[in-house]
Formats: sequence, C-alpha cells, structure tokens
Amino acid sequence: MSQRKQTSLIHAGRSKQWTHGVVNPPVQRASTIIFDTVAEKKQATLKRGQQTLFYGRRGTQTHFALQDAMVQLEGGAGCALYPCGTAAITNALLSFLATGDHILMVDTCYEPTRAFCDGILARMGIATTYYDPMIGEGIAALIQPNTKILFLESPGSITMEVQDVPTLATIAHQHDIIVMLDNTWSAGLHFDPFAHGVDISIQAATKYIVGHSDVMLGTAVATEALWPTLREQSYLMGQCVSADDAYLALRGIRTLSMRMAQHAKASLEIAQWLEARSEVAEVRHPELPSCPGHEFFKRDFTGGNGLFSFVLKTSDVAATTALLDGMQHFSMGFSWGGYESLILANEPSSFNSLRRVSNPDFDGTLIRIHVGLEDPQDLIADLAAGFERYNSVIMEQLHK
Ligand SMILES: *Cc1c(COP(=O)(O)O)cnc(C)c1O
Repeated sequence: MSQRKQTSLIHAGRSKQWTHGVVNPPVQRASTIIFDTVAEKKQATLKRGQQTLFYGRRGTQTHFALQDAMVQLEGGAGCALYPCGTAAITNALLSFLATGDHILMVDTCYEPTRAFCDGILARMGIATTYYDPMIGEGIAALIQPNTKILFLESPGSITMEVQDVPTLATIAHQHDIIVMLDNTWSAGLHFDPFAHGVDISIQAATKYIVGHSDVMLGTAVATEALWPTLREQSYLMGQCVSADDAYLALRGIRTLSMRMAQHAKASLEIAQWLEARSEVAEVRHPELPSCPGHEFFKRDFTGGNGLFSFVLKTSDVAATTALLDGMQHFSMGFSWGGYESLILANEPSSFNSLRRVSNPDFDGTLIRIHVGLEDPQDLIADLAAGFERYNSVIMEQLHK
C-alpha cells in the first residue's frame, strides 16, 4: 500500500529485526560482537557489509535502523553514516577519486567543501573547476576527459541559488560522471535526489534530520551501482558514529515533516515582511520569485524550510552590530536546522573575494537567518526592534 511521506517516516527503520517489538530500536552500544560458534562468526564475516552484527565500526542495529530510515526518506540503495556532514562530503568524494582526476564543484558550495577541494584534493593531484550554480547546459563545456564527479549544492550556501539538477545530471551522465548533491537544505524531504538524476545524496544530518542542535552527523545515500564502493571505502577510512547519535537522528526523523512545514510557513512570512522593509535591498529565499533559480524550486521541490538570506542596503558595521547585539530570539551561532532561530551577518568582502565565477557583488551586508519554531510574530517583532537599533546608528552617523 502506498503511503504519504509523513506516514512512511513514522514507520521508517522500525522493522521488528531492529526494534524487537518495542516502539523505538534500542540504543545498542558496541565495539565487540560475540559469536557463539565458529560457524556464526564465519556467517557474520561473510555478511558484514549487509547490516549484520560483526564489529562496532560496521554499526549495530540502532545504526541499521537509521540507515533504513534514510533510504526510506531519500531513496537509493544504502546509507553510509559519518560523524558530521563535512565527513560525509569528503568521504563521498574520496571514495571515487584518484590522482589525476578532475571534479566540477558548484561555486556556491559550503565553505569547508571548497577548502577541502583547494587543500586536500589539490595536494593529491585532483583538480577542481568551480562552476556557476546557474550554468545549466553550459556545464558541458567544462567537462574534461578526466572529469569524475559533478558536485551540486542546491540551494547554494548563503546566497541560495537553486540549481537545474535534472539538466546538469543528464549531461554528466552522458559522460559517465558521478553526480553528487549536498541535499542538506531540503533534508531529503522536499527534494527527491534520485528522481532528479543524483547518484549520491549527502546531508549534514546535523541540521534538520537531528533537528535539535545536539548532534553532529552526516549521511550519504547512494544508488545500487555506487553503494558497495561508497560503503566499503568509507568503512576503510574509519567512518562510524555513536549509537546514541544514531538514535537521536532517528527520533528527529519522526517529526521532520511537521517541523519543516512550520519552519517553511514562518520563514516565508518573515521573508515577505523583510521584502517590504526599506532597509533591505534584496531577499534571497527560494520560495520568492526574486531568488535565482526560483523556477527550478517551483518545478523540483515540494516545500521549503527556515533558512534564507537577505541583503541590507548598507554595509555599515556599527549599524549591523547594533541590529545583531540586542536580539531576543535570534541567537548568533553557526549551523542551522534546530528548533531555535539563528542569525549571522556576512560583510560584502567575505563574498567578493571568495567566489570565482558567481560573484553576487552585493554592496550591503548579507544576513542569513534560520527561522526556528518560535511564533513568527515574536520573530518579526525581534527583527523590527533590530532595525530600529540599526536605523538609529545610521541616523547618528548622518548627523555627525
Ligand atoms: C552544515 C553544513 C555542512 C556540514 O555539516 P557538519 O555536520 O557541520 O560538518 C555541509 N553542507 C551544508 C550545506 C551545511 O549547511
């Protein structure tokens, strides 16, 4: 019987072999697994890549339950678990690359992804070409004979450009290039990676999967063809996570679609309120027509979330500081995807030097907010008070 997404996430990973008849799979902490007979040990060794208790680094039933739940959420054939999202990205890349290879990396990737390409991959003799997130069919011209991976992140970090994933994936596949996507923004809930041509879907589960700002975790879900390589290479590189963290991620999945719906509703309301503010030059929210790639968002996504950016008309540091320092509900902190609201400012210089081919050239300070699960009216009041503080600093300076 077919199920709607929310229903399937209630059941995901809860097969009796993992739960043993209780509602949630127990937290099974282990390094050593004990075998009663030589035959049992032999059997476990044979099946060690297939969710069989073998050795702690291969995971326990708590991990197997989470892997099943992630496959239920995103599709694909199997899910590798990592101690954080960055480890998921770097291990997925390393699992399929060798010296002399070339990768195509979206210019709007998460900053540590770029640093990994420019540092560790470069040192290994693997070349990276950055491409404009909006390049579309133009990607064909950047493909080299040694191009192995096309890496996407959609929407892009900080500036939120939504990519034309099916077009990019189709062209990559014509050249036998593996397509990887950082799918953290959609949480795997609102963008179906495998239906759009992705081969490996990566998430910082740290964000919405866990959803409560208390666990670092990464996931990579792969197609049938790539799963054995991803699984074995990641295992060789020592990637594993604690059973407690796997358990908390599973718990997060139960409420994922409810949380996302509320984050999305509140963030759109706040984005529209910001659009009407005189202090704001531009709002970058995938659900608004002004966001680059909004047409792809409408075509390919089934919903939004709480993370977006807006650009102020000025880059006055004292005024932005006044705005940020008095916030009651928006805290300053890295990460996002938890139940709480967050705010971070990026000076124009932090973009205008970083990106190679997709420089947005904003004049004003970019503010990224994560809209949490507070009542949006309280968040709007918090931002309105912030703008008052901001404006009084601007006014003071005009009168100096
Ligand atoms: C946070 C984040 C990551 C990295 O995840 P960590 O768990 O912090 O290592 C990767 N990609 C995106 C888009 C992120 O926002």
